[in-house]
Amino acid sequence: AMQEYSGTRIHVYEPRVDNRQRHRLTLEARLRQAIDHGQLELWYQPKLDARDGTLAGAEALVRWRDPRDGLVAPGRFIPLAEDGGLIVPLTEWVLDRACADLRILMSHGWGDLRLAVNISAAQLDHQPLAEEIARRLTRAGVAPASLELEITERALMPRAASVLDNLNALHELGVAIALDDFGTGYSSLGYLGRFPLDTLKIDQSFIQELGQGSSGEAVVRAIIALAEGLRFEVVAEGIETLDQAHWLLAEGCHLHQGYLYARPQEFETFTRDFIVDDGAPNKPLPTPVAQL
Ligand code: C2E
Ligand code: MG
Ligand code: MG
Ligand code: MG
Repeated sequence: AMQEYSGTRIHVYEPRVDNRQRHRLTLEARLRQAIDHGQLELWYQPKLDARDGTLAGAEALVRWRDPRDGLVAPGRFIPLAEDGGLIVPLTEWVLDRACADLRILMSHGWGDLRLAVNISAAQLDHQPLAEEIARRLTRAGVAPASLELEITERALMPRAASVLDNLNALHELGVAIALDDFGTGYSSLGYLGRFPLDTLKIDQSFIQELGQGSSGEAVVRAIIALAEGLRFEVVAEGIETLDQAHWLLAEGCHLHQGYLYARPQEFETFTRDFIVDDGAPNKPLPTPVAQL
């Protein structure tokens, strides 16, 4: 192995590291190509009002259709995009796709529901984000109120003026903001009220602990109460069982997202199964809601 001396620290470069570096570069180059060559897809997971089983919105989730590896989940390439500078073009693609799909949804009775798009933490610190989104919405002819951005607690952590500026500008525009994976970050609760937030999404790790006599139940109850006190919407995600759904309904959380109701799916399947052609999106949904 090669050695390099810098001050008193010795860096040892193993060939193994070089290989990993090379692999990473090719993956990055392939992701860049995927963005440019239309190999990304935007999938949709519905969000339901479990009280009556009606559609309450949806979350857009990106997938990479790689010619070699098939369908790649975002957990495998979003972190890479965040480190390597590809997150901006990737998000631009996602936003444009989401806007184009929203136009189709609106012509099929989507009404005033919101479509949620995930935004990486670092992007909120990036000054022109709000303007960029405003420009894209205008160009696509989509009302800002149809869009919701999901950010994580991590995005609020820098406490940078640009984060607050971006959130305020988006709020004024009418774009809704949801705090995703809520409860897993380390944000102080006191500062939640200072941000123009609309929704708390309870992290799925707590939902999956429900009914197991663990601390998850106390945490979920506390988040529901917190949301109510701050007048935020509260959404439970990662619901997989009827017991979890029942428990949440009994505790006053009725906005549900999870495999119990539907997995993320391609746009065509989503529109076919969940959207009606005429009027409100209230056709009987293919969900176990009737059993609730
Ligand atoms: P997230 O925003 O918290 O999205 C929810 C994830 O949970 C999705 O995984 C979804 O498929 C999964 N999920 C939903 N219901 C259930 C359930 O009942 N059980 C289980 N086990 N999982 C469930 P997915 O699509 O693999 O996305 C993972 C993460 O990747 C997302 O977590 C989000 O942080 C990120 N991501 C996805 N799309 C985008 C994007 O367009 N941009 C950015 N920046 N990040 C994205
Ligand atoms: Mg999300
Ligand atoms: Mg989440
Ligand atoms: Mg997550």
